[in-house]
Amino acid sequence: MSVFNHAEFDNHESLHFFQDEISGLRAIIAVHSTALGPAAGGCRRWTYASDADALTDALRLSRGMTYKNAVAGLKFGGGKAVILASDDAPKSPELYRAFGRAVDSLGGRYVTAEDVGCTVEDMRYVREQTKFVSGLPQSAGDAGGDPSPWTALGCFQGIQAAAESRLDTDSLEGLRVAVQGVGHVGIYLCRLLHEAGAELIVSDVNQEHLDLIQAEMPVTVVAPSELLYADADVLAPCALGNILTSTTIPKLRAKIIAGAANNQLATAEDGTRLAERDILYAPDYVINAGGIISVAAEYYGASSEDEVRGDVCRIRERLQAIFDEASSSGRPTNALADEMARNLVAAA
Ligand code: NAD
Repeated sequence: MSVFNHAEFDNHESLHFFQDEISGLRAIIAVHSTALGPAAGGCRRWTYASDADALTDALRLSRGMTYKNAVAGLKFGGGKAVILASDDAPKSPELYRAFGRAVDSLGGRYVTAEDVGCTVEDMRYVREQTKFVSGLPQSAGDAGGDPSPWTALGCFQGIQAAAESRLDTDSLEGLRVAVQGVGHVGIYLCRLLHEAGAELIVSDVNQEHLDLIQAEMPVTVVAPSELLYADADVLAPCALGNILTSTTIPKLRAKIIAGAANNQLATAEDGTRLAERDILYAPDYVINAGGIISVAAEYYGASSEDEVRGDVCRIRERLQAIFDEASSSGRPTNALADEMARNLVAAA
């Protein structure tokens, strides 16, 4: 397994490997950049096919966090933790305490929060061992807590911006939106879209999540293999990454891609492929920054829930500016966002 020659290695500042015999914890923390502040990014717990896949995920996700935090104007650099899930290391308070000690050993260079496979509750055990954690349960009206509703709100704002740019409409009434994954973020996003009058097509590999949403609102459920190619105006990826590829893009029917999942493009060239098909892509780390905006407010202890809402709603104007520039320059939206992020980090 190469590290410095790894295709996703991007001058990461440091990489840390942890294991704890008692809890079974095996984790990687990637610190991509601390130029703008402590490297912040959630902790993902996932069953990886190999250690190499876990490393690839940590490298890619941590760079994405640098870009996300920079474009969102936060005093955070970029980092990410992955916990390698396995039968030998079941989810337990001790596993998260061991992870908390790992985070603490970095002395604040990395700040964690929940991501896929982890919950607000899990972060309470992390907090027992370190102060470098955010996304903990909060009192009503205070900033912070579960980042998912904020991520969903940012995505909703982004879909509105994209509909205005690509479909020339400021209403989501009757718009068909295909949502891939109705977990933490997906279900909140569906609620907002349903309230706005959109028609929902959904898929999930977890039947319980499908049952929950079907009990709450009218949705058309399709098989996970069909969702990407559904006859929809908007595709909102809210599951995992690497779904927009040279194989999938030619078969897409949506005119807009705007959702929460990290690393939606398999490669940067896939952004060009989307632009060539006149599919408007909302760069993932710009549209899904709502959660980290809330995490930052909680961590720095300054904002109320209303202030967080105002900051998250700014995602709409940020995307609008990228869409306008893409339209006037003919450049893909992902290239414009990457350039903006790299300039912000370089200036720091
Ligand atoms: P989650 O695990 O709660 O939800 C993901 C859902 O996708 C689950 O219901 C899962 O069963 C489903 N799923 C997995 N594979 C699927 C497939 N092939 N087809 C359809 N459904 C599938 O995770 P989440 O917190 O909702 O995050 C979703 C995505 O958004 C992730 O990529 C995450 O990194 C990203 N994201 C989340 C946040 C946040 O605040 N939670 C913030 C930024 C980005």
